[in-house]
This record gives sequence, C-alpha cells and structure tokens, in this order.
Amino acid sequence: MVTSSELITTSDAYSAHNYHPLPVVVASAEGAWMTDVEGRRYLDMLAGYSALNFGHGNPRLVNAAKAQLDRVTLTSRAFHHERFADFCASLAELCGMETVLPMNTGAEAVETAVKTARKWGYQVKGVPAGQAKIIVADNNFHGRTTTIVSFSTDEDARRDFGPYTPGFEIVPYGDLAALEAAVDEHTVAVLLEPIQGEAGVLVPPPGYLTGVRELTRDRNVLFIADEIQSGLGRTGATFACEQEDVVPDMYVLGKALGGGVVPVSAVVSSRAVLGVYRPGEHGSTFGGNPLACAVGQEVIAMLRTGEYQQRATELGEHLHRELGLLVGDGAVRAVRGRGLWAGVDIDPAHGTGREISERLMERGVLVKDTHGSTIRIAPPLVITKEDLDWGLAQLRAVLSH
Ligand SMILES: *Cc1c(COP(=O)(O)O)cnc(C)c1O
Repeated sequence: MVTSSELITTSDAYSAHNYHPLPVVVASAEGAWMTDVEGRRYLDMLAGYSALNFGHGNPRLVNAAKAQLDRVTLTSRAFHHERFADFCASLAELCGMETVLPMNTGAEAVETAVKTARKWGYQVKGVPAGQAKIIVADNNFHGRTTTIVSFSTDEDARRDFGPYTPGFEIVPYGDLAALEAAVDEHTVAVLLEPIQGEAGVLVPPPGYLTGVRELTRDRNVLFIADEIQSGLGRTGATFACEQEDVVPDMYVLGKALGGGVVPVSAVVSSRAVLGVYRPGEHGSTFGGNPLACAVGQEVIAMLRTGEYQQRATELGEHLHRELGLLVGDGAVRAVRGRGLWAGVDIDPAHGTGREISERLMERGVLVKDTHGSTIRIAPPLVITKEDLDWGLAQLRAVLSH
C-alpha cells in the first residue's frame, strides 16, 4: 500500500507549492470525520472553509448528485435544462431576492458582483464611463483573481501579481466614518464580508452593518455582502447579515451552496440590478450546470428546514461558552465569532497557529491556522455535541503544554 509520506513526497514533486497542507492524506470521510490512508481518523474542524457545512458525504446531497449523474450533467447555457428553473427560483426565494446569476467558484461570483455593480453604475446610476469606484475593507478576503487580489491588503496574496486593477478604495473594516468619507458620486458599491473569515473570524462592531445599509441606501450605492463563507447556516442564521436584520442589495454565495460535492456559486439580487445584463455580456461554461443545480437545490431545501441554522446556534453557544473559559487562562488571548465559527488567538508563547494545528492533528483534530497565531474552528454543522466536546478537550490538552 502507498503510504501517506510517499504520497506527500510525490505531491511535493509534481504540484505547485501554493499551499502548505498539514501532513495528513485523507482517503475517505463521513459526517464530521475523515480517515487517512493509514486508517487514522480525524475530526474535521475546518469543514472546507465552510464548503462542508452539511458534512462529508451527506446522504441527501450524495443522492441528489447520483440521481443527476445518470440523467444529464452539462448542457452549457446555450440550451435550457430541466434543473435550472427550480434552482434559480428556490435560491431567489431563500434570499428574499428576485434574480440569480449562477457561477462556479466564489471568486467568479465576486468578479460577477464587481462587473454587475460597475455596469449598474454606468447604466442606472449614471456614473461617467470608466469612473466607477467600489469600496472594500482592509483584511478582506474575496478570492484570488487578478482583479480581486488588486484590492487585497494581504501582501502574500498581492505581491508580484500586478499591474493591479484600478477602481477600488480600501477603508478600515468596522469603521463607519471612514466608509462615509470614502463614498463619492462615482461610488457604485460597497463590498464587504459581514464577518471576515480569512482575517481570523472578525465580527464588526454592533451597528456597523446597519450603518452600512443606511449609508449605501442614502447615497444610491449597492451594498454587496460576500456571504461565501459566512452564509448558509454557519453563524446560526441563513445569512450573517441577519445578525443586524440587514438585507443587502446583493448576496454573493459559494462554498456550502455546492454541499461540498461540486463548486456552485451565485450572485443573487434584484431584477433592477441583475437586469443590466444582455445576452453575451457575461457567462461561464459550467455556471448553472445540471449537476450543480441538482446539488444546490438540495442544499437550499435543507436550509429551508431551519434545522442546520438551529444546530449552529445551539452548538455555537456551547462552543463559545467553552472557548470563553480558555480566555485569560494563559494560552488563549481572545476568541471571536458567531455560531459554529470561531477564531482563537493563541498566545505566541504557546506556539504558532501552525504548531498548534500540528499538535491537534497528532491528537486527531484538524483545524487551520491563519495570520500567525490564530486558529479557526468551523466544524460541519452536523457535528454531534459529543464530538465537538471531544475536539475541545484535545484543544485544551494541546494548550496546557
Ligand atoms: C472562499 C471565499 C471566497 C473565494 O471562493 P473560492 O471558491 O475559493 O474562489 C470569496 N469570499 C469569501 C468570503 C470566501 O471565504
């Protein structure tokens, strides 16, 4: 049998080193658990950055995919297909919006949001040609395309990828006054994560999202919420914007929309905004394909039960109560987050985020570090309370050394 270390050696030899994975080689997975090629089991406390909100191999999603595999998987948008209508209708309804534009990956959906906002700016708002401005926050993460990294503040994400796309202004996250000062007559959109995931699960100060909503409404600017990681149950609500009862002009969705089975993303907005497109102006070969729509529609049906949001709420309260007990205990400096989603800042004296992640791996728990000394906890929403408690016990054990 091929061992983990042989597979890692071959991967290192033949793949670009744009990731630094933990040295575990997964062979299979079910629910919140993964098994490596040697048969060791690991509790997945990352859940594919929230792409696996419904767990590995969720039977409803696997069955939806299998049934569609036997019918038709790809038509391109040159033709209609049986699955498209219901997917778009049910996603619009879930979002309380009118119109859906499906894509595949998150970055493509963000690109779609950027293009849509610019086109809306020129055609509807009347911004002079080539002058549209989009305001974003520092420490944002919206994906990896050349345009998106142009407005990143993470040097690793940007360096050597210029020349950069103009038309973006960066303001401090959570600072309403700075945002207000940045809005001018050429501003077409404010693009924000309602909670910044990659930055370390940063929750904005209370009233921020409400303030952004009021400001953008007053100034005829689109409020685009990138809910690719925060949305679809993770925070205990369908959308993290609900934490302040805020409804943006546009949702950008991805990750969990594909149920961890296939990449599915979408921009969801009003007819007035997405109605700016004419045939040929934007698209994607795979966007809205039958397999994606079949899986996506099952994800939407599962979310409409409210069951997953409720689990995230209840288990999230438990998670944050338990993590809160660690704060000030020496090893943990701060804990942030909402629902089944937490950023834990470790005192660097106890090790880097990477070292903590490696020690957790040795104890059978998989997490991901971010920004040096932060680890991110985001298990599948189907995790049991017992498994969550076991994972937390491993964290306590690692931090007590
Ligand atoms: C992951 C993520 C993206 C990018 O999605 P990809 O599918 O990796 O392109 C964009 N925005 C947010 C908030 C994300 O978490």
